[in-house]
Amino acid sequence: MSTLSTTASGPTVRDSSQRVLFASDLDRTLIYSANSMLLAGPDDAAPPMVVAEVYKSAPLSFMTRRAETMLKDLARRGLFVPVTTRTREQFNRISLPGRGKGYAVSTNGAVLMRDGVTDAAWTASIRSRVRECAPLAEVFTHLTVDHPVPGLVRARTAEDIFIYCLVERASISADYLAELTAWCEQRGWTVSLQGRKLYCVPVPVSKEAAVAEVRERMGIDLLITAGDSLLDAGMLELADIAFRPAHGELHDTGFERPHLTVTEAQGIIAGEEMVGRAMTHARRLAGSGAV
Ligand SMILES: [Mg+2]
Repeated sequence: MSTLSTTASGPTVRDSSQRVLFASDLDRTLIYSANSMLLAGPDDAAPPMVVAEVYKSAPLSFMTRRAETMLKDLARRGLFVPVTTRTREQFNRISLPGRGKGYAVSTNGAVLMRDGVTDAAWTASIRSRVRECAPLAEVFTHLTVDHPVPGLVRARTAEDIFIYCLVERASISADYLAELTAWCEQRGWTVSLQGRKLYCVPVPVSKEAAVAEVRERMGIDLLITAGDSLLDAGMLELADIAFRPAHGELHDTGFERPHLTVTEAQGIIAGEEMVGRAMTHARRLAGSGAV
């Protein structure tokens, strides 16, 4: 199907199929550790899985084999962009379909890669905007010295851009989290608690900013996103169609939007469900030869 439109250079035939993109968070959205995959039911009914990440010579993260097959199809057609809070080094450990090809976003949006090459200008522009926020050292000192995070095991900085702390989850009360969030907000920082990891990130370092940039560069008509944490909320807001799993930080806060679908399943099966739903939309809207 085609439509005729007129431009300054005269009438052109434009394919009516749309350019579609599936931009998705990774941890606890597409890939799952043994502790986060929330398998239920008898062991012999568990889905076949593939290893998505090896760390220190041991398998660490997984997806279902079916999710991988569908993701391969999306990646082969250039429709999939991984978006993660992981640093580049942590991201590079993950073996995803389409690895090293097309766009990828790491470091919570501070790093934009194309065909595995980091876009230095993008990172520079983010670093420039981060200067409007309180310095990383001030927040790090607050978390580790002045008002140490309860149950803090260790604190790390990610590419000198943001901070993440490994914590004893039971030690983090709702009151403490609200207090820290308010303290950070006053300094242009945001807070996210995911499993045993507590993230503090400058507001300009966002997945949605990087995904909006990719959408612009690729000339995307329809954006589909998926994510499970507060750091994914902006990316879900940005999308035309969004998915989140029925588990995780956003689920715990009851995050709902008219264009957002919550999975029926939880855990690693929810990951497969979201890829399947994204693929159904992509196939319907992108057409067979449009990408
Ligand atoms: Mg996640």
